[in-house]
Amino acid sequence: MSDSIDRDQRYDVVVIGGGAAGLSGALALSRARRSVLVIDAGSPRNAPASHAHNYLGREGVPPLELLATGRAEAAGYGAEIVKGDAVAAEKLPGGGFRVVQEDGSAVEARRLLVTTGLVDELPPVPGVAERWGRDVLHCPYCHGWEVRNRPVGILAAGPMAVHQALLWRQWTDDVALFRHTASDFTDEEYEQLAARSVAVVDGEVAALEVTGDRLTGVRLAGGAVIPREAVVVQPRFTARSGVLETLGLAPTTMEVAGQAVGSYIAADPAGATEVPGVWVAGNVANPMEQVIGSAAAGLKAASAINMDLVTEDTRRAVEARRTPAVPDFSAEMERQVTERVLGDRRHGLQEM
Ligand SMILES: Cc1cc2nc3c(=O)[nH]c(=O)nc-3n(C[C@H](O)[C@H](O)[C@H](O)COP(=O)(O)OP(=O)(O)OC[C@H]3O[C@@H](n4cnc5c(N)ncnc54)[C@H](O)[C@@H]3O)c2cc1C
Repeated sequence: MSDSIDRDQRYDVVVIGGGAAGLSGALALSRARRSVLVIDAGSPRNAPASHAHNYLGREGVPPLELLATGRAEAAGYGAEIVKGDAVAAEKLPGGGFRVVQEDGSAVEARRLLVTTGLVDELPPVPGVAERWGRDVLHCPYCHGWEVRNRPVGILAAGPMAVHQALLWRQWTDDVALFRHTASDFTDEEYEQLAARSVAVVDGEVAALEVTGDRLTGVRLAGGAVIPREAVVVQPRFTARSGVLETLGLAPTTMEVAGQAVGSYIAADPAGATEVPGVWVAGNVANPMEQVIGSAAAGLKAASAINMDLVTEDTRRAVEARRTPAVPDFSAEMERQVTERVLGDRRHGLQEM
């Protein structure tokens, strides 16, 4: 990843965010012979995890290795990739956009693809942030296999707690659901939990117990420690939408059972937002998207952007073709003078 940009160039597309979604979009656009700049702050969401799972063909690849490969692939077709933080974007009067980075530098683009991902806002329990992505988890498809048959705790803090407990039960028969700050469950939920042998632990959780570099238990406010090797939490998924908000795109609240659990930027199935010329892909548009889905969304948005540019290029070419050519008076005058000189010479020859 380079630190400098060719600031005089106006790119076909500036991609903001170089995770799976952004790099996949950049690869497709570069292969479509578009000039592409990727501005990436370099903090993909799954960076705390040692491996990325369920990416067909690269199962278990370290997340940063997958992105390094993606950067090399996109750069191989001419994409420029720079490290940086885009803080604002504005529409230009003649069309296109100006993107401003944290250091004050700016670049222009005909179209924007924003793939800035999301922020996982974690419950404020001591130990949760420190162990996040290692043995504090949220996604069973990402980590379930690795903790199969192990003692797992579910930290209830929102409307998804019972759903999470029943889901994780698929990977282990030792699931304890810590009621913590959640409101009480319904009779039907208690019946489901009992039927699936999920233990419900009352009382607020004070902290996670860590021994050496391993999570070993969950400490309740009363002092009791329940041994656990992994704890599942429900983060709030907050779209990293700062740049988009400067363009007038406000995030939409994501709700489960009437409670806000996150936010995202609304877009059509190809990622087009309400602002013409601005596309989104990956977790900023869909908090539930995994790596392979984010990459697929980046590709879909790239195809739509390329078609939009093809349409604009064609319209401009038709306009140019219809505009009558301005006559070249200097060439016409030269032709008349030559004619006159030759005519005079011919006239002179006849008189000799
Ligand atoms: C702990 C954990 C483990 C996970 N494990 C898996 C797994 O095993 N398998 C799986 O499929 N999914 C997994 N996921 C989900 C996965 O992380 C996401 O699906 C994926 O990262 C989404 O890709 P993205 O490109 O949308 O966003 P990201 O990967 O988050 O990339 C966004 C990029 O944009 C950059 N950026 C943000 N704002 C700006 C800005 N203003 N200017 C410039 N750059 C910016 C960021 O620094 C980052 O590099 C996991 C998630 C977590 C939290």
